[in-house]
Amino acid sequence: MNTIKPKLVSVEKLTSDVFHYEFAFEAEPVDFTPGQFFILKVEDGKEPPVNRSYSIESAPRSDGFALCVKLIEGGRGSEYFRSMEVGATPEFMAPFGHFVLKEDDDKDIVMVATGTGLAPFMSMLRVLFERGFKRNIKLLFGVRHEEDLFYMDQLNAWAAKHENFELIVTLSRPEAEWAGEKGRVTEHFDAMSIESSQVYICGGGQMVKDIREMALNKGLEKSSIYFEQFTSI
Ligand SMILES: Cc1cc2nc3c(=O)[nH]c(=O)nc-3n(C[C@H](O)[C@H](O)[C@H](O)COP(=O)(O)OP(=O)(O)OC[C@H]3O[C@@H](n4cnc5c(N)ncnc54)[C@H](O)[C@@H]3O)c2cc1C
Repeated sequence: MNTIKPKLVSVEKLTSDVFHYEFAFEAEPVDFTPGQFFILKVEDGKEPPVNRSYSIESAPRSDGFALCVKLIEGGRGSEYFRSMEVGATPEFMAPFGHFVLKEDDDKDIVMVATGTGLAPFMSMLRVLFERGFKRNIKLLFGVRHEEDLFYMDQLNAWAAKHENFELIVTLSRPEAEWAGEKGRVTEHFDAMSIESSQVYICGGGQMVKDIREMALNKGLEKSSIYFEQFTSI
């Protein structure tokens, strides 16, 4: 575990409340495994001091890393991010977490994400494509409204390029003109065949619990289900 003070080099607004942050390592690069997270020390001067966890969106690289963060009105971590200007050097502890790809080239991969739960999968997908993973990969990504979608250009480009990658995007509260998939990720997961798969789940706590339960009910072994909960509920 390292304590680092990387420099914020850019901020991109992806939706009304989701932002992409690029950081550059100021000293030695920090190695991590896709799916892991860094812990931000929230230096907002308030008591008690708090830390917040953020999954790494980028693949491991020597120059820096990216985060994808939903800014919640009044949240300590969120307001700290909102106050950060390019050039800021916030403190992170890195890396943490066991939500990483299990090297098993004999199984398909099913990824289920809601909201910024997509972040660790972006990192994992880059590495899977890079190493030429041959089995099928399905990504089921859910948000409420079309305007809440992000990273779609990259995801669609991967779906067009990699025959073994299937992207299923679903909106739980679609507007009338939405022609894509509708409903919660749980409804789509229910209809999915997950035999011979590893299932990775990331996002809000209740969704993670529900999908995990469904995967077990479909007969998947506990040891083939991996998850990261961003919230307790
Ligand atoms: C391992 C791990 C990895 C994570 N990775 C990411 C990531 O990559 N991107 C990311 O955006 N977040 C991620 N999170 C969530 C993140 O750590 C914070 O919990 C989140 O940013 C809210 O913190 P805050 O200090 O802004 O809000 P807080 O001060 O903790 O909460 C403010 C209010 O918002 C509510 N709230 C908390 N989370 C949410 C939510 N998601 N939606 C709506 N209301 C909420 C709280 O109940 C509270 O009422 C991760 C969490 C964990 C445990």
